[in-house]
Amino acid sequence: MIQVADILKAAATIRGVADNTPLVPSAYMSKRYGHDFLLKLENMQPIGAFKLRGALTAVNNLSDTVTGVTCCSTGNHGRGVAFAAAKRGMRAIICMSELVPKAKVDGILALGAEVVIAGKSQDDALKESLRLVNQDGLVEISPFDDPYVIAGQGTIGLEILQARPDIETLLVPLSGGGLAAGVAAAARAIKPDIKVIGITMDRGAAMYASIQAGHPIEIEEVASLADSLGGGIGLENKLSFAMCRDLLDDIILVTEQEIYHAMQTLFYEDRIVAEGACVVGIAAVQSGKLWLTGPTATIITGRNVDMAMFSKIMNGDDIDLDDVTIKGQHYGA
Ligand SMILES: *Cc1c(COP(=O)(O)O)cnc(C)c1O
Repeated sequence: MIQVADILKAAATIRGVADNTPLVPSAYMSKRYGHDFLLKLENMQPIGAFKLRGALTAVNNLSDTVTGVTCCSTGNHGRGVAFAAAKRGMRAIICMSELVPKAKVDGILALGAEVVIAGKSQDDALKESLRLVNQDGLVEISPFDDPYVIAGQGTIGLEILQARPDIETLLVPLSGGGLAAGVAAAARAIKPDIKVIGITMDRGAAMYASIQAGHPIEIEEVASLADSLGGGIGLENKLSFAMCRDLLDDIILVTEQEIYHAMQTLFYEDRIVAEGACVVGIAAVQSGKLWLTGPTATIITGRNVDMAMFSKIMNGDDIDLDDVTIKGQHYGA
């Protein structure tokens, strides 16, 4: 398991490159639900997402003999790795599936990394990444199951509790669990009775299904408004599964319709442009699946949303995903 000492080291590693982002109140959510509701604005990181923290920590801890790195990614980890590798003058090859939005692919290319589109799932992208490890001698950096990545993401937990020691509950968007594992490890070390709740979409919730089953399992990956939360946790998961199982108080699942509504809320009430993955904490509260019991913070994990889709949602239009249509609704109607 990752300890708070590892997270403090990561904080020193990323200082000056990844930002200590603002923790701001949502006036609307706080008033409506009766307790301070704070937003940790990781959408303001230089790459537009928190994944910079883990990627910088992992890449900076590689030895000088490493010439290049590779990873699979739903987009933001690839962008973080591309950024960190460029800073060290290393080659980076980012492997992604066809489900990844074009905005994310373009962001990675702009940082000078190479991109490989492989298959229809994160599993396919991971296979390609591992093939490159063998063929080109690159080092693979997991998006969530890597000790340095987890420690890097955990720095968010330190910053939140340094800024607001009175926070009682943390709502953490959950996919492979690197973020939740790191944040929970940091928060628990500082404040043992804090509640840390993972939140994810009900379509393809691999960590939730694995914890229910008692071991990592595979589930089918489907398109979601929260595209950054897609993908499995790996059948050979070494760290993030056990940490999420042991450190999270609960996992809450939200629907696509609830994510749609929460994206509108964050934009219309707080004027923040964010990905579907970021608003699952808001969605959990709005849907009545979670009641605020004291000061609560959630992490606005990234802003790298497809703007055509974002505009449609703000206009209240229907959204077609691969196999479902999410019914549009005007905000406030
Ligand atoms: C990666 C990511 C997550 C989930 O992080 P995990 O460590 O995989 O659980 C949430 N939101 C965004 C925007 C992401 O890029």
